[in-house]
Amino acid sequence: MKNENEFPITTGTCKFCGQTMTVETVGDITQDKADEIATSRCTCKEAKVWQNRESKIKKAKEWATNRFERQPNLITLFEESFERVTNHDVEKVAIKESDWTHNIFLDSDGYLNVKSSKKVEEEVDFS
Ligand SMILES: [Zn+2]
Repeated sequence: MKNENEFPITTGTCKFCGQTMTVETVGDITQDKADEIATSRCTCKEAKVWQNRESKIKKAKEWATNRFERQPNLITLFEESFERVTNHDVEKVAIKESDWTHNIFLDSDGYLNVKSSKKVEEEVDFS
């Protein structure tokens, strides 16, 4: 659906409560995208939980991007893990890189968490 204004207007539906709302868009967008925008603006309880979850994933991705900026393969691996864990495909992902172990899991509130620990080992050779 288009109007004569500069921005096309379309209707999005919250995927949780079904509430519809008008979404101003720049260029053509798919119905899925319009629904996602509507869901991201809806104030129903389920939408709020989803928004919070999405924001945690976004922050986690930013963290991975900053931390592993020279290792794009690792960033991809982390991003995939964040999605998998959040979608309950797996309970936990542990990634080992050099001396670090990163555990990706959902905390007791159901939100994404990364716990990084570093192996500390000291060996003294007395020979
Ligand atoms: Zn809603």
